[in-house]
Amino acid sequence: MNIRASDLPHSTNLRLTAHCRLCGEGLKHSFVDLGMSPLCESFLLPEQLDSMEPYFPLHVLVCDRCLLVQLKEYVSPDNIFSEYAYFSSFSTSWVAHAKAYCEMITKRLRLGPESLVVELACNDGYLLQHFLPLGVPVLGIEPAANVAKSAIEKGIPTQVDFFGVRVAEELVASGKRADLIVGNNVLAHVPDLNDFVGGMVRLLKPEGVITLEFPHLERLIAENQFDTIYHEHFSYFSFVTIEHMAALHGLKLIDVEEIPTHGGSLRIYLAHQASSHVPAQSVADLLDREERLGYRDIAAYTTFAEQVKRTKRKLLSFLIAAKDEGKTICGYGAPGKGNTLLNYCGIGPDFLEFTVDRNPYKHGRFTPGMHIPICPVEAIDTFKPDYVLILPWNLKTEIVQQMRHIRDWGGKFIVPIPEVTVLDPEESL
Ligand SMILES: [Zn+2]
Repeated sequence: MNIRASDLPHSTNLRLTAHCRLCGEGLKHSFVDLGMSPLCESFLLPEQLDSMEPYFPLHVLVCDRCLLVQLKEYVSPDNIFSEYAYFSSFSTSWVAHAKAYCEMITKRLRLGPESLVVELACNDGYLLQHFLPLGVPVLGIEPAANVAKSAIEKGIPTQVDFFGVRVAEELVASGKRADLIVGNNVLAHVPDLNDFVGGMVRLLKPEGVITLEFPHLERLIAENQFDTIYHEHFSYFSFVTIEHMAALHGLKLIDVEEIPTHGGSLRIYLAHQASSHVPAQSVADLLDREERLGYRDIAAYTTFAEQVKRTKRKLLSFLIAAKDEGKTICGYGAPGKGNTLLNYCGIGPDFLEFTVDRNPYKHGRFTPGMHIPICPVEAIDTFKPDYVLILPWNLKTEIVQQMRHIRDWGGKFIVPIPEVTVLDPEESL
């Protein structure tokens, strides 16, 4: 069944007002509508539970010209990023991934004491810290003051700002240009894509390289990763859309790697069109594959919504049956993606007694919308639930390793995505 946005009465207003953030075309097609949802990083203090909570539409659209899958900018980034609860260093596998990248890229680009690496949205310095022992000068740009402070404490020069053309021109005027620009999981969060990419173009040396990592739209569609959709995540990229974006800004794709982070990401390598870098075969191969999947045609984007509804029904059926049998369930993790899943599916404390997180910032707070209490990880050992629902399913291997002792009381894990699956810690080791 093909449902077009124009068939849906509630899409009328969006159709009138929304324009593609990459090519400016009017947006007419719905990708998926996850209803109304609070901001996924707005964890609540106990005294806020009795107050009104702002909800915003979570309706994803797709541009029929450049095929960028995108959310309207419902919320100003100033509100989102001024105090950000996500500290990258709390994930040990993510820090290890960053370290391996720094060592690889230093060798590949022959970076040294004369080079400059700039990371856009450097978070708490989880990545740039690994360049320090390699003797490569770095600069971080980070809009959230609280996480930037943590980077500065690690000895990483960090500027608190939103990156774009203005910041790039200020840096160039002060004599700074980059041999390497790194942007990991930032492109999706940028409201003004053309200003951001235009800034990178200005800051990059003539033979410099940009590497960007972002979740791959192909994985999102293939594996039902609808919970990676949230208000802070404005754009969802296929490689064909990235090719369009690069061409618009005088950049060329010189390499691409498929990496496992965040449920399946791309790491793309960009350089100035006039540079001497020669594109690797991987670029043409991935473009061919996406073309075969139909990603250059709007039709490939219109069946996702039905798939998401089916996933919700399956997860709820499982949880309802478990509760009817008298089982206890708690969550593991309180990631942004968890909140989309919980709010869209309507999973509150009636299903999950509580959730836990390794980030102390979240302890004693409640998840936005569903108001599930967030406790330290040890709460699982005290409560001994029958099931632990893993919300950051992209880290499930790490979490099952760390929490395998739940088998002591017969506990099992539930992984909600791509579809609900029970993992017995006895069998999954
Ligand atoms: Zn477009």
